Amino acid sequence: MGNIATQTPMVVGATTWTEDWAQYGQCRDANPDALFVQGAAQQEAKQLCVGCPVIAECLADAMDNQMEFGVWGGLTERERRALLKRRPDIRSWRAVFTDARVREQSRAS
Ligand code: SF4
Repeated sequence: MGNIATQTPMVVGATTWTEDWAQYGQCRDANPDALFVQGAAQQEAKQLCVGCPVIAECLADAMDNQMEFGVWGGLTERERRALLKRRPDIRSWRAVFTDARVREQSRAS
């Protein structure tokens, strides 16, 4: 049995919102503690998220559920808190990211 992301490449990516995103994340085979580090180590941990095919889903989930600890969607807890503080009007980050994805798709077509 091979890598699940390469088995189902059409499920993930820019055109589809992936509900079961965790199984497609680039961190799926990493040490579970790798994204729950402190201080400067978080900047290194964020590198795991670069190019992750489900980064929007992961970040939306973390933002909508106010995940307090760890790196999610390429942002540290401090960065997510700052974003929540800057945009208290946003009730659903998933909706924001979904709309952005749709706009991006229509620009591209
Ligand atoms: S964005 Fe980062 S934390 Fe989220 S699934 Fe991808 S690699 Fe894991």
